[in-house]
Amino acid sequence: MKLLIGSKWVEAQSGRSFETRNPATGALLCRVAEGDAADVDAAVAAARQTFEGPWRNVKPNQRQNLLLKLADLVEAHYDELCVLDTLDMGVPMRRTLGNRHRVVSTIRYYAGQAMTIHGETIENSLDGEFFTCALKEPVGVVGAIIPWNSPLYQTLKKIAVCVAAGCTMVLKPAEEAPLTPLRLAELCLEAGFPPGVLNVIPGFGSTAGARLAAHPDVDKIAFTGSHFTGQKIIQASAGNVKRLSVELGGKSPNIIFADADLEKAVPGAAMAVFNNAGQICCAGTRMYVERSIYEEFVARVAEFGKRMRVGNGLDPETEMGPLVSANQLERVTGYLKRGQEEGATAASGGSRLTDGEYAKGFFVAPTVFTNVTDNMTIAREEIFGPVISAIAFDELDDVVKRANDTIFGLGGGIWTTDVSKAHKVARRIRAGTVWVNAYNVLDPAVPFGGYKMSGYGREGGLHHVDEFLQTKALILNTD
Ligand code: NAP
Ligand code: MG
Repeated sequence: MKLLIGSKWVEAQSGRSFETRNPATGALLCRVAEGDAADVDAAVAAARQTFEGPWRNVKPNQRQNLLLKLADLVEAHYDELCVLDTLDMGVPMRRTLGNRHRVVSTIRYYAGQAMTIHGETIENSLDGEFFTCALKEPVGVVGAIIPWNSPLYQTLKKIAVCVAAGCTMVLKPAEEAPLTPLRLAELCLEAGFPPGVLNVIPGFGSTAGARLAAHPDVDKIAFTGSHFTGQKIIQASAGNVKRLSVELGGKSPNIIFADADLEKAVPGAAMAVFNNAGQICCAGTRMYVERSIYEEFVARVAEFGKRMRVGNGLDPETEMGPLVSANQLERVTGYLKRGQEEGATAASGGSRLTDGEYAKGFFVAPTVFTNVTDNMTIAREEIFGPVISAIAFDELDDVVKRANDTIFGLGGGIWTTDVSKAHKVARRIRAGTVWVNAYNVLDPAVPFGGYKMSGYGREGGLHHVDEFLQTKALILNTD
């Protein structure tokens, strides 16, 4: 697979390439051209030329049409895109195939947004006759840097918002999962995207990513990934004072009150983490359970974990796939060990799966830890694996305080049949999204993003496009 610069698929200038593998089997899928600083420079130049050139004259309705065509193509190729996501990063197709409507309607939502951008006229108090207004203009060349945990959805959101706002873009996919972004780029060309609107440079974060974040001719970085990398991006962007949006990690609380509907709360709390093998930014990993139901609830969630069908995501029966890579496996099993050393007990899972076919891939059993205290490493750090820390609580004020005692603030869940309690707690959780009697439910019109070290900026909703726009004041003397 090659790099996309302008409308051309090219090899990396260094001639280097890297492997991408199937995490369920360890098999080599293909080699991908490894972009580096020189390739990023060429891609930024192409994006700049298009932005300053023909793209300026492309009207909102034309940008809308490009996105609507892309949505049609993604709908037509949806199964194939899901297969690529599964092959490259392991997510079960059972999960992604069910998201068809949401994914396609996300692109159509941004197509709609392309025709809603408007500034404002302002009544001024100046002496003389002046017409004053605020215009909205695209921010310019955007560098998009994305993680591997949801390649299709992450790539589409970034492309759609850029086109809606009238920006051009250089995308650096994650090295673990570059295949879906590259296939999507082919579909963008097929949809009629002018050359240079979308450029794709697969490669490593420390080289291609770092160059993009520091590039003097990039106007904005839209980053999604860990807070460690987010901090590096913020520093790298200082050189030319780039605009930034940073969507980072989490350690989200999921609070189960004794009056919850347990038939819904048990699978809800389990899938708040086991979905995508826990590789979800807003996973509800700190499961706070009211003490009167703690034993029963934890036993039922552990039982749910034990019954899950773990395997190759291409199998329609598979409910949970592998972790994305050997690195991620090492990281997650390190936390499993650390949790047990610090005194936690695994009510389910607790280790890697190695029997038979599992041995070839990066599989970990769905894990529920009990005897967890708030200060344990597994209750404080983002694991990004299928690991729930179950913690008992006694009363509302106490659980709110503990839920907020984290550096992160991405998501949170509340399970109760008491509406007033749900409302009170939801208002007090310091996080960008709070779900009540649901988890991980996303809609393109609803803003998503973090408080605290989960980042800033919002994806989705009316605020998202605005983050890709500049505001220009126009003060016109009409005397
Ligand atoms: P990551 O290690 O931070 O990497 C994210 C992206 O940044 C990758 O493309 C990576 O490249 C690149 N990168 C690494 N170092 C860089 C540098 N110095 N300069 C520029 N780019 C650099 O995160 P990940 O492991 O891919 O993804 C998991 C994390 O993403 C979790 O923390 C998760 O919570 C977070 N996440 C957040 C959201 C959200 O919406 N808030 C959504 C999904 C995931 P390479 O990996 O190719 O080297
Ligand atoms: Mg891969």
